[in-house]
Amino acid sequence: MSGATEAPTWPLFVDGAEHGAASGETFDVFAPESGALVGRAALGDARDISRAVTAARRAFAPWANLPPGGRERVLLACADAVERRGDRFLDLLIDESGSTITKARGEIAYTAQLFRAAAGEARRLYGDTFPNDVATRMSMVLREPLGVVGVISPFNAPLALLAKMVAFPLAAGNTVVAKPSEETPLIAIELARTLFEAGVPRGVLSVVTGFGAGAGSALTASHGLDAIVFTGSTATGVQIAIDAAPRMRRLQLELGGKNALLVLADVDIERAAQIAVAGAFAHGGQICMASSRIIVEDAVFAPFVAAFARRADALVVGNLRDEATAYGPLIHEGALRKVQAHVAGAIAGGARLAAGGRVVRGLIYAPTVLVEPPRDGDAWREETFGPVASVVAARNLDDAVSIANDSAYGLSAGVLTNDVARALTAARRIRAGSVHIGMHSFQSNTLAPIGGFGLSGIGRSGGKYSIDELTELKWVSLELGTTPFAEGGAL
Ligand code: NAD
Repeated sequence: MSGATEAPTWPLFVDGAEHGAASGETFDVFAPESGALVGRAALGDARDISRAVTAARRAFAPWANLPPGGRERVLLACADAVERRGDRFLDLLIDESGSTITKARGEIAYTAQLFRAAAGEARRLYGDTFPNDVATRMSMVLREPLGVVGVISPFNAPLALLAKMVAFPLAAGNTVVAKPSEETPLIAIELARTLFEAGVPRGVLSVVTGFGAGAGSALTASHGLDAIVFTGSTATGVQIAIDAAPRMRRLQLELGGKNALLVLADVDIERAAQIAVAGAFAHGGQICMASSRIIVEDAVFAPFVAAFARRADALVVGNLRDEATAYGPLIHEGALRKVQAHVAGAIAGGARLAAGGRVVRGLIYAPTVLVEPPRDGDAWREETFGPVASVVAARNLDDAVSIANDSAYGLSAGVLTNDVARALTAARRIRAGSVHIGMHSFQSNTLAPIGGFGLSGIGRSGGKYSIDELTELKWVSLELGTTPFAEGGAL
């Protein structure tokens, strides 16, 4: 941990070089666990964004025109470089973002996997052909990169999410200007350095640190941008969609979730409770796919609640460098206040508190289980993004599915049962971007289509699905013979 006096000042990374922001200003980045100053980040604004976008536009044609094997080679080198610099990322993930050591190790390993998965996709920018209505004509469909992609990333998995939002656009031949969360700017600069050293050419990736209302909205509004890839809250996603609309640019939005975990009557109670605890409390619930709404069939409701609350109470929280720790602090005071407000509102509305409901110390909030919170309250309807799970009873499978679907969000879900027919019935009827059977709702995979229904966003990312989102299709047709043209404009 850096002491307050020796906290380093970090640069922007623009056009292959490190330098201060045009404003000459910095902002402080504090460790969520201790409150200590970790570093000072450069306060980027519209001027820095403009330089980065200009560089990305200049770098676009050479990067897009590399043979797929060229981009593949660079992205594979990026994966190796992330692994080589693992210790540095580990410290930053713990200090800057409040990750446990276990989550940080997993995130670094996953980041390397993401670059390898993206490297594979760089070779698979497949086009198409189709039969033309006119016999002497040929039609083909070419797949082309979009151009310059603006990436705006969140704090909760600051390395892996930014890496994913950079790696797949680069694989498709785009160039990127990224604006990371103001909570985790240093990790982003460290990643930019690492990728540049691994061979990502100058201008192909720039990172401008700063705030959403400054560098973020400047990026959204920037003239030279062709697409925006955003992961973050629904409120910000909506604002970005509004701001981006006049320029009609491609949007991929991965937003919030209020994810259901169905526990059906045939489950092994202890195993179900163990899975639910992992789904609800991993990284203190600061995960878009956290299992925050647990819907339990009547027959096992009481024993499930007892086992779930007992396991929640037993979680070790707090010390980030201890491998036994389940999770650490919330990211900032505002996040803690939101958690407290949701819990207080639920209790005032008649919820029973089966576990937690208190601050452990600093920004660390105890694993909290609310039983039967009001269905119109924030704890049930809104994303809490903290270690709070609500448990409600359902009469049967139909009832459980309809409770799950009574949400404006639709990111992911889990279904716990050993009955394949009931599991698949639920999976087909739940309105969410992913449904995991025998698992909780928080699952990642480099090749899976990640994204949501409703307020959880637009588009999918991962593997070939990212390539679909990050390329344009172009129909090219060719007249091979001498088919006469009807003058006067026949169809
Ligand atoms: P946030 O929306 O507060 O911030 C995300 C990013 O948007 C930050 O970089 C921020 O600076 C920027 N931003 C804020 N206002 C902006 C504006 N007006 N214009 C442009 N940029 C702006 O989200 P957060 O608190 O960092 O992250 C938590 C949220 O992210 C949760 O809602 C979580 O569910 C969501 N999330 C979703 C996924 C997914 O895959 N669906 C994954 C991780 C996190």
